Amino acid sequence: MIDCGLFQGDKELRLRNWNPLPVPPSSIQWLVLTHAHLDHVGYIPRLVKDGYHGKILATSATVDLAKLTLPDSGHLQEEDAAYANKIRSTKHSPALPLYTMEEAVKSLESFQAIDDSKSTDLSSHFSLRFFGAGHILGARSIEVTIRENGSTCTVLFSGDLGRYHQLIIREPSVPEAADYLLCESTYGDRLHPQDDYQARLAKIVETTASRGGSVVIPAFAIGRTQELLYVFRELIEQGEMHSVPVHVDSPMAIDVTDIYRRHHEDDNLDTAILESHGGKPFSPPNVHFDRTVQESKALNNLNIPSIIISASGMATGGRVLHHLAQRLPDHRNTILFVGFQGAGTRGRAIQSGAKFVKIYGTQVPIRAQIESIENLSGHADYGEILTWLGRRIKTAPRQTFITHGEPGPAQALREKITQQLKWNARVPAYLEKVTL
Ligand SMILES: [Zn+2]
Repeated sequence: MIDCGLFQGDKELRLRNWNPLPVPPSSIQWLVLTHAHLDHVGYIPRLVKDGYHGKILATSATVDLAKLTLPDSGHLQEEDAAYANKIRSTKHSPALPLYTMEEAVKSLESFQAIDDSKSTDLSSHFSLRFFGAGHILGARSIEVTIRENGSTCTVLFSGDLGRYHQLIIREPSVPEAADYLLCESTYGDRLHPQDDYQARLAKIVETTASRGGSVVIPAFAIGRTQELLYVFRELIEQGEMHSVPVHVDSPMAIDVTDIYRRHHEDDNLDTAILESHGGKPFSPPNVHFDRTVQESKALNNLNIPSIIISASGMATGGRVLHHLAQRLPDHRNTILFVGFQGAGTRGRAIQSGAKFVKIYGTQVPIRAQIESIENLSGHADYGEILTWLGRRIKTAPRQTFITHGEPGPAQALREKITQQLKWNARVPAYLEKVTL
């Protein structure tokens, strides 16, 4: 099994988390992970609870990150169930969490970091090779080699693909060939703008500060927060931006930043920069890491222009909701989106120009300036995906399956791959079975 994530976004998708798996968890022998985002690992505690007892293999950075994300996810599941019971908004009484924090912690015992610099034999039939995916720390594409009845077949799982020319993480790499390919398509219908996003970022902060407002950035705790901290430090040090206070209001993002400081195996950073900052490239001059609830609440009284980076990245939960509820109604503030906003999320609604958004049961008016910077995305656009595919794979895979995208982007990428690379590509249906 490659990846074991939670469905996120629309309710119809989220309800799928409650469907039984198409195979009994106890029948699965190995689980291998591309990276630690919840849409790739968030179902693991339930899988273990329901009878999976094999190892869970991943890079050491992914293991470290999952140690943070899974217990936190269990905690959120418990909170959501408790809230549903309190307001009796559920037909199931009582509402139950998909898994608890305790069950999430227990599932971590099955994790095992592997040396991804060489091929790993799982058995005489299966072996694995990992390729840097450039998406977040520890992210890999996975090539599975299957040997059976004297013949060999390779299946390449792209995982989530990152961008080329990034600040922190090395760009994605790819093997020379694959018999079958599963390729993500998050941005399958879009190209990221080529503009100087750092200058735009500085301008957004300066303009907002000049009218006495603050910039609230809903940011994914893994990856985007660290990149923002890195860029703000550079902009301030180079005199491109005033040294406004930067608050990181997310215990998860703070812990993840520590992991980024510890793991250097995926680094694309200039080591001279690292050293001149005492190994702290993620600390702008006026940075505050607000870990406690008291520190977070104190931000409500912050009257000087500031930058508040807080999770979750699509404003579906977490501390950022408090900041949005407080700062959305004031036209002086700016809400800045720096990552993909899934359909059905609050983030997508705000980004799409809604006049009100519901937070904690209240309709909050949206008067703040709304901005989006796509260049900071952790996902390759279709041009970069085609580069990734075409750069080294010279022979068309027998079949390419387009996954991990909403229907529009998935079909758009399928057409691009069919037309430009002349490969056989299609979008599989949910729960479809394919014989290789
Ligand atoms: Zn991801």
